[in-house]
Amino acid sequence: MNLRILVVGAGIAGLAAARGLRVAGFRPDVVEELPATMAPGAGIYLPGNASRALRLLGLDAPLRPLGDLIFRQVFLDAAGGELFEMDVASLWAGVGESRALSRADLQQVLVTGVGGAVRYDTVVRDLQVVDGAAKVEFGDGSIAEYDLVIGADGRRSTIRAKAGLGGPATPTGQIVYRSVVSGGPPVSDWVCLLGSRSAFVVMPMGGRRLYCYADETAEDGAPNPADPLGRVRELFGDFGGPVPAILEAMEKVQVARTDEVVLDAWSRGPVLLVGDAAHATAPTLAQGAAMSFEDAVVLGEVLRATPDDIPAALRRYEERRRPRCRQLREHTRERDRTRDVPPAQRDPMLRRRGQRIFSDQYREFAEPL
Ligand SMILES: Cc1cc2nc3c(=O)[nH]c(=O)nc-3n(C[C@H](O)[C@H](O)[C@H](O)COP(=O)(O)OP(=O)(O)OC[C@H]3O[C@@H](n4cnc5c(N)ncnc54)[C@H](O)[C@@H]3O)c2cc1C
Repeated sequence: MNLRILVVGAGIAGLAAARGLRVAGFRPDVVEELPATMAPGAGIYLPGNASRALRLLGLDAPLRPLGDLIFRQVFLDAAGGELFEMDVASLWAGVGESRALSRADLQQVLVTGVGGAVRYDTVVRDLQVVDGAAKVEFGDGSIAEYDLVIGADGRRSTIRAKAGLGGPATPTGQIVYRSVVSGGPPVSDWVCLLGSRSAFVVMPMGGRRLYCYADETAEDGAPNPADPLGRVRELFGDFGGPVPAILEAMEKVQVARTDEVVLDAWSRGPVLLVGDAAHATAPTLAQGAAMSFEDAVVLGEVLRATPDDIPAALRRYEERRRPRCRQLREHTRERDRTRDVPPAQRDPMLRRRGQRIFSDQYREFAEPL
């Protein structure tokens, strides 16, 4: 199959898409605007359906020694009192393991999965559709023509704009703080302490390190804090459970905003968006990577089925992927609304029904792709 395919972006979605295409017998070009030396910081949590999709991409073996497996998700109130817990092992039984690991390690697995074939320091500057093919202009002024361009260039996607598929992403209003902590207290589960319009999540990520993810709902127009570590200590300084010992050991904090991308269509002619470029959500349910891996599996399957009819393959792709991504967006918004209910009302409700409500938000994702 001699399709000329370009994948724009070598983040999680782009590398996974390229892997899915290779497994299906294609040899896409992959370009990334950043240099090869830019390793992502922080950790990442991959629920069971992410592991299943990685297995379908043939990448489960290299993943197995990495990070820490997660068997329970424990939800606490801000003081550290238990609200409820979820048995993650049984939630994802027969689907896949849940795991927390370093993003750099995951990136390495994905890069190896495409045979290292990524052209770094290469930005796509422009794209035009001419006679059904995509003409791409790179940063150095060179131009190449492709039968299919996969825009995996993230929530601020250039490909989305150039293909006329959508404008800027919509901010969710959350500020997220991430840190990898060594020398913290022993934590063996995924643990979340729910505050007032804020949450502090911690999990083991291998190598005796903890991955911390904390967020707050920001006021409209509020700038990012100049001192993120100071802000985390201020926000969570009176939390209980493992938080005080973690804050003491915490040295560096990355700050990020989160966005949502909602589009009427993900493809136009020979251009398709995948991953965050198509369907970013707030990362509350930690499903962004899973959705990108699932995108990659389905992309490979639909193109292998009808390589001579790209429009039909892309239609089939959207039919299969849209319902799941819509469910994720709805459940994410629901979870964020629950998080923002005042603790005096929310916490008693979660003690009674949290286990069922939160487990139900994942059930559809355990269904086959
Ligand atoms: C704070 C935070 C925490 C998260 N935590 C989790 C988690 O625990 N679990 C989980 O599953 N998901 C999580 N996610 C979501 C997850 O990281 C993303 O959904 C996933 O990484 C897919 O991103 P992507 O590859 O589509 O986009 P990106 O990661 O944004 O990658 C896009 C790539 O394209 C490149 N690029 C952009 N424009 C161009 C261009 N014009 N030419 C060439 N290259 C270009 C960029 O340099 C970048 O490398 C989190 C997200 C955030 C923001």
